[in-house]
Parts: sequence; C-alpha cells; structure tokens
Amino acid sequence: RRCVVTVSSLTVRGRRGATVVLEDTTGVEQAEQMRRDFVANVSHELRTPLTALMGFIETLRGPARDDAAARERFLAIMDREAGRMNRLIGDLLSLSRVEQEERRRPSDRVDLATLVRSACATLGPTAQAADVTLRQIGTDRAAPVMGDADQIQQVLHNLIENAVKYGSRTGGEVRATLSHVAHEPVLRGPGWAIEIADNGEGIDEVHLPRLTERFYRVDTHRSREKGGTGLGLAIVKHIVARHRGRLKIDSAKGLGSRFTVILPEWTSAGSGAPQG
Ligand code: ADP
Repeated sequence: RRCVVTVSSLTVRGRRGATVVLEDTTGVEQAEQMRRDFVANVSHELRTPLTALMGFIETLRGPARDDAAARERFLAIMDREAGRMNRLIGDLLSLSRVEQEERRRPSDRVDLATLVRSACATLGPTAQAADVTLRQIGTDRAAPVMGDADQIQQVLHNLIENAVKYGSRTGGEVRATLSHVAHEPVLRGPGWAIEIADNGEGIDEVHLPRLTERFYRVDTHRSREKGGTGLGLAIVKHIVARHRGRLKIDSAKGLGSRFTVILPEWTSAGSGAPQG
C-alpha cells in the first residue's frame, strides 16, 4: 500500500509536540494510474486508424493518383478505417454517459421480452450474413423490469453481436433465452435472466476475469479485423451495474460461451432489489 506521512510541530500550553498524519493514498494512486492508462489506450486506438488514413491520403496524392483501380481499393480501406474511428468515438461517448448516470437508477417499466425480440430482429441480417442461426426462447410472455430501454437494448446488441462475431463458426447457432428467476441470491429477490449462448470457440478461462475491462481483448488483431473497439463488454458491465443487476460469464474453450444478465423483477412497489 502507498502512504503519505505529514509531520507538523505544535505547542500546547507551552509544551512542544508534534502531529503525525498518515494518509492511505493507494486508492487515489490506483485511480490516477487507471486514468492515465485509459488516456494512453484511447490515444493509441485512435492513432492506429488515423495513421492508416494519413498514409492512404499521401498515396492517393502521389503514386496512386492515376491508378483508378488502386484508388477504389484505397478508398474502401479508408472508409473502413474512418468507420472504426467513428465506432470507437461512439463507444467512448456511451461509456462516459453510462458512467455519469451510474448513480441514478433507471425508473421506467420496460419489458425484456420486447427488447430481446427487437434485438434479434435488428441483428437477424448480421447473423444471416455470418451463416449463424439466431434463436430466441421464452420471449412470448412479458418480463417486466425497472430499466432504461435504450441501455438494455445496447447490452443485448453488444452480447448478441459478440456471440455472432466471435462465438460461432459457420453454420453455428446463437440462442437468446429469457427466463424467470424466483430468487437471485446476489439481487436478494426475483429477477429475469437473459442468456446469450453460442456454440463457438469459447474463451480460455485465464481471460475471463479481465474480459469486461476497457480495451481488453483475447485477440487484438481478430477484434480489430471484426470491427471491434474493445469497449463493448465494459459498456455492458456498467449498464448492468446501473440496473443493480448481475452479469455472469461462463465459457469453455472449444465448446462456446454463455453471457447471462439478470435484472431485478419490476414490482409495483419498485423493483425487487435493495436500493443503494
Ligand atoms: P470487442 O469490441 O473487441 O468485441 P468486447 O468488449 O465486446 O470488445 O469483447 C472483448 C473481447 O472478448 C473480444 O475482443 C473477444 O476476444 C472476447 N469475446 C467477447 N464475446 C465473445 C464470445 N461470445 N466468444 C468468444 N470471445 C468473445
């Protein structure tokens, strides 16, 4: 641990003495280090596509100026890199918004079944393009929770998109299952669980504890190739925390992964979980 010691002399009724103040600064220093790491990571993540863009601009002005085929090829790459920067900035803004709102508990009554159906409909074409079957189970009855519909939609979107992107081989299957939990011990009450499961490559267990850290990826090259920003699961974690919910990650290398989000059930007297 890190400690700051401040010693000052003092005189009480003519007698000289000293005060010693011991201050534990471990937490403050850790937070400061995390902030520095984050700024360094963001700068690096933005610089990578920016360097590519600048390089191609230079090439288009010079050697490729009169080569129509090369120009088209380079413009397609520049388009992809600009898209990457745009996604990164979008995710950074989402993350900062969620962090700002984390103390304010969402108060709308939202139906998880409707949100799961809508996320599956939105991502249907993405799954189809990857030759993955996207199935929804248990979404035929209402599942009311106290929440923020846009944020829960983002959680579902990130988890299903990841399952399609990393978790499934060609011809694989992603299942979104909604079920009622009579008593969730951590939430200390009833809840609704959404499970996003894939039968893909799985994640080695050494990675699991760090998976929701900002910019943590199992395979950075693969994530970049697939258009990932490394922020998706960090956003999920913060949104679930804001909802006083739980996020569980189970995975077995070679068999697949299961991401489960459990949110407190909505009740007319407020949601089931303890207020905090
Ligand atoms: P990214 O933008 O890279 O997808 P995320 O925070 O969403 O960032 O995910 C972090 C990393 O976790 C990914 O880069 C990937 O390596 C791994 N991952 C996430 N979901 C899955 C999954 N369903 N199957 C295998 N690996 C996954």
